[in-house]
Amino acid sequence: MSGACELCPRRCMANRFGEGGAKGWCGAANLPRVFRWGPHFGEEPPVTGERGSGCIFFSRCTMKCIYCQNSPWSWRGEGTDKSVAELAGMMRDLALKDGVENWNLVSPTPYLPFIREAAAILAKEGVRLPFVWNSSGYERVETLEEYAELCGTALFDLRYSSDETARKASAAPGYVEASRRAVKWACGRRKAGPYGTIVRLLVLPGHAEEAIENLAWLATEISNEVPVSIMAQYTPAYLALKTPPFDRPVTEEEYESVMEAAADFGFENGWIQGYEASDPKLALLGENMGADHGVVR
Ligand code: SF4
Repeated sequence: MSGACELCPRRCMANRFGEGGAKGWCGAANLPRVFRWGPHFGEEPPVTGERGSGCIFFSRCTMKCIYCQNSPWSWRGEGTDKSVAELAGMMRDLALKDGVENWNLVSPTPYLPFIREAAAILAKEGVRLPFVWNSSGYERVETLEEYAELCGTALFDLRYSSDETARKASAAPGYVEASRRAVKWACGRRKAGPYGTIVRLLVLPGHAEEAIENLAWLATEISNEVPVSIMAQYTPAYLALKTPPFDRPVTEEEYESVMEAAADFGFENGWIQGYEASDPKLALLGENMGADHGVVR
């Protein structure tokens, strides 16, 4: 591994992999940093399966969403640097001790070279599981191509249809084109994992029309047969608590408008959360989740 990092669309070119390991825009340096890992029983049904999905929550993120529920490790970088051997050890324990269905890489992009090395160690031992690449959708197709073996299942968001919103809410320039190219790439693969591609649409307060525009794009440019996961679970957190309209849950009317659009566009595959998932009294999963190994429900 050498040279400047251009793994994500930001292409900040930080010399992370050279001597000294400079930090990139996302904060990642020359070791994979992990906050939490363990079987997750709250993912979409085929990903969770019977035994849970083996999530690895990587620290840092290529976006900075003002409403992030995982800010302790995504923004502030909490977690522990791991060697490649230690990362392989975590993956081995998930497979052999926890008995999970898959390795679910949550925001893995800054650490792909290390994950590949860890997977190679395990492959030599005969320890293999399907990979789930769990992403905001802010990806480069060149990177997806390069690390395609880590993307058995693409669990990708289409979060915004407006670059202006993406810039303001997530500091993610060029998000719309990047995420749509990523989804198109994932759906166009001949060789995909057991669950293929699942597109997540988190309905954002004041921006329901962006989820609808993304559904329209998906139906028109790819297919209405792509499994979609429509989510009401937005809960104001972190900087969003002081940033209207992100300081409130999505309204029932907003959420219904997206569900109606999905039906109108003919989407029949996938999952729709009940509106009750938007209840702010429900615990914020990320903010209340401890570090290191543990079950996630
Ligand atoms: S993954 Fe991080 S270090 Fe690499 S290009 Fe993106 S922001 Fe920069």
